[in-house]
Amino acid sequence: MALTFIFLGPPGCGKGTQAARLAEREGWVHFDMGSMLRAEIAAGGETAEEIVSYTSEGKLVPLPLIRDLVEKFFRDHAEDNVLLDGFPRSLDQAELIDEVLQRNVDAVVLFQLGEDEIRTRIIYRRFCPECGAVYNLRTNPPREDERCDNCGVRLSRREDDTEPVLLKRVRVYRQQTEPVVERYRECGLLRVVDASDDATGVEHRLKEVLGLND
Ligand code: ADP
Repeated sequence: MALTFIFLGPPGCGKGTQAARLAEREGWVHFDMGSMLRAEIAAGGETAEEIVSYTSEGKLVPLPLIRDLVEKFFRDHAEDNVLLDGFPRSLDQAELIDEVLQRNVDAVVLFQLGEDEIRTRIIYRRFCPECGAVYNLRTNPPREDERCDNCGVRLSRREDDTEPVLLKRVRVYRQQTEPVVERYRECGLLRVVDASDDATGVEHRLKEVLGLND
């Protein structure tokens, strides 16, 4: 039976970075809902405008659109071990896993991070549009003013990494995603990781809670 892992946590908690590393190392498929939605927007298809009207305001994209993307993805990956990142973000999305995908969840990891740290990570986050390298102007700045160390290209900012949109994203997380956390806590699947350390430290803790060897 294919394994299913879920990573949950507030914006900026680093679950995307950890998910990419772990999936690569273990040979699992990384299902990254945020990137998938950004790819839909970039492709400019018929749903692009609707999706951007939600993401640009930090709101959850409606269930029917999410359901289509999830079903499409799992048609190709039904037999694979998957790591779900950015999904489920609400109780009705969690039901899709049981009812539509009919997958058992093996473990859920919550990456915990305080509000001040969330703000610093998101407001000062920049990325290179060329190679995708991620920087933080406060804690991990590029050598030359806002230019990528690898490509020399001017760094970009995610459209939803602004103060007002971040506030909304955090509110949505508290209201809609924390009930998902509680649901998995109640059924004994939740493992908690302190996400305030650097990426290597968090990776170490993550492997520990999942019982994976270094
Ligand atoms: P973060 O976790 O840092 O907020 P993501 O890249 O995971 O960033 O998500 C960015 C945005 O994409 C969210 O604010 C939301 O608008 C949309 N989104 C991502 N995942 C989902 C989901 N499962 N359901 C609905 N909307 C989503």
